[in-house]
Amino acid sequence: MKQRSFAYLERLLRKKTGQAIHDYRMIEEGDRVMVAVSGGKDSLVLVKILSLLRRAAPVEYELMPVYVNSGFDSGFDRVKAWIEDTLGLDVIIHDAYIREILDTVGDPDKSPCALCSRLRRGHLYSLATQMGADSIALGHHLDDIVETFLLRCFYTGQIGAMAPSRVTDDGKNRIIRPLAYCTSELIDAYFSRLEVEPVTVECPARPDGKRMLVRDYIKRLERDIPRVRYSLFAALGNIDARSLCTKGGDPCGS
Ligand code: SF4
Repeated sequence: MKQRSFAYLERLLRKKTGQAIHDYRMIEEGDRVMVAVSGGKDSLVLVKILSLLRRAAPVEYELMPVYVNSGFDSGFDRVKAWIEDTLGLDVIIHDAYIREILDTVGDPDKSPCALCSRLRRGHLYSLATQMGADSIALGHHLDDIVETFLLRCFYTGQIGAMAPSRVTDDGKNRIIRPLAYCTSELIDAYFSRLEVEPVTVECPARPDGKRMLVRDYIKRLERDIPRVRYSLFAALGNIDARSLCTKGGDPCGS
């Protein structure tokens, strides 16, 4: 990304986030939005942009930043202070003891990441219900969505990704992803100008190798197809269902 001013990056993030909120009707008048803050760059940019948008929004809504402490991170105190001092939002900290659970029930031969994410999600969902939140905002961005799409195609033989807005399977919570139109490059460029250090994750588990492989693959494809990540994202909202290989008749039901 070209060297851009802080104001330009902030304007672009606000515009793209506002557009996604509008297109997917993510936030409505009087909503109580729980923001999942992991302390990493994506969630910090999310909470900052949402708080800026709220000041100028035509509707009133509440933001409730929540940090689920898994026991792996250090440095959340400085992140909490930054959110409270610069954005004026109170952060709720929830101790989830996930590290202890993984130490006890984890299979040493398997990656603990799937279980860790499930446990974290479970805590977020029950907290949202307890707090009367209308939605849970997550910091996933355009690249996360496109990578998940390819991961599911390549490794599970399914077409699916991460919806910018969806109700959970049990119907109790609504998940929103306001950064769905923002690339990780844009988020990184903006985050590098914010005066806050993300948390340090001290987890012995290795990052997901398949995701890194797909990320690298998209970068290589971009040399020949410069806007390939945007095309992949657009494809997820532009499905020609009749041309798919669904068995048992017309997928459109006609
Ligand atoms: S790397 Fe560690 S903290 Fe991250 S999802 Fe995996 S087990 Fe959890």
